[in-house]
Amino acid sequence: MIDLGGMEKGEVLDLIWERLAWPPREGREFCWLWTGSYSGTGQPALPVAVGGKRMYLAPARVVYELDTGVELGRQYLKRNCGNQACVNPAHGYIAPGKGRGASKRREQQATAHE
Ligand SMILES: [Zn+2]
Repeated sequence: MIDLGGMEKGEVLDLIWERLAWPPREGREFCWLWTGSYSGTGQPALPVAVGGKRMYLAPARVVYELDTGVELGRQYLKRNCGNQACVNPAHGYIAPGKGRGASKRREQQATAHE
């Protein structure tokens, strides 16, 4: 499982839900839009304080792992909706590909099947 910095799952999920544009359980077809802070690479980032140290969790990955039970490890989590702010696990998929070209093609295929 993803490293939650020793926090409880429920505690982390509460922090994430509070930073979504609307209550997320209303529909899995909609994007769950992150309104919190972002990392330097433009990914949603949840700052948490663990033992006096500040660390960042990736909310899309946390939600995906807790929702699907799939361990991401070092694999990329992509979104088939193309929305960087989206943390809806139903829009996420694992992109194991190497190199940008391969993952880009995958992304387009996924979108084309929408
Ligand atoms: Zn989405």
